[in-house]
Amino acid sequence: MKRATRKAVGTVHLVGAGPGDPGLLTLRAAELLARADVVVHDRLVHPDVLRRARSGARLIFVGKQGGGEQVAQDEITALLIAQARLGREVVRLKGGDPFVFGRGGEEALALAEAQVPFTIVPGVSSGVAAPAYAGIPVTHREVASAVTFATAHRGAGDSHWAHLAQAPTLVLFMGGRKLDEVVQALLANGRPGATPAAIVEAGSWEHQRVLEGTLATLPDLGPVGSPALIVVGEVVRLRGALGAWAELRERPAARAEARR
Ligand code: SAH
Repeated sequence: MKRATRKAVGTVHLVGAGPGDPGLLTLRAAELLARADVVVHDRLVHPDVLRRARSGARLIFVGKQGGGEQVAQDEITALLIAQARLGREVVRLKGGDPFVFGRGGEEALALAEAQVPFTIVPGVSSGVAAPAYAGIPVTHREVASAVTFATAHRGAGDSHWAHLAQAPTLVLFMGGRKLDEVVQALLANGRPGATPAAIVEAGSWEHQRVLEGTLATLPDLGPVGSPALIVVGEVVRLRGALGAWAELRERPAARAEARR
């Protein structure tokens, strides 16, 4: 009877899965995946990361598939709470870091409200890792003494863009489809068109692609796939000297082969 009471509520772990490359998963994340009863995950999680889930664990996909609908946020939180109340150990696995544009805060608040115990396992955010895999340090002495991480999903009418136009390095999330608007907003707020800029598509994934130009030429670089980050600032120039490493890096498949 006592055991049953102790087991009554499980724990939800809000876990960052890193930007793509499964080698960037934290040890803590791997440990929790190996013992979870349920793994609730998004689209931006590498299949090799999901393979670390305990055999017999239930994998529940709640991301957007193709042009389909995303599972509503309150349905996701309801699912997490329901699974925990069944006494299950739940891993809520999110791309990058759960608290960087990942709605981890919203989910944690809902869990706290429902009195479901939770833990947070930070992940390597694409905001830092995707530029790194393109050979772009987000700060660099005497080039950029600050970096701003921001979402492109804000109206042009507020001070959002005026502020962002001033950032020594600007890393914009969720801006791929709004490239024209983003560039217009930054130019209109005084960022020079000649500022070096890049787009990192699927950073750290096998199919990573980097497009480089200036703020003014970004929209001409062609359609941008998903997921993609926009990086604006003088640090982008360092890619000329540092970018080659990513082309030479060991791919996850090669690494798995080497382990065999
Ligand atoms: N929590 C995540 C961000 C989720 S928001 C993190 O910390 O990385 C989703 C946005 O993140 C995408 O629209 C894209 O802008 C960015 N993103 C996520 N993974 C990416 C990757 N591997 N390469 C480039 N951008 C990525």
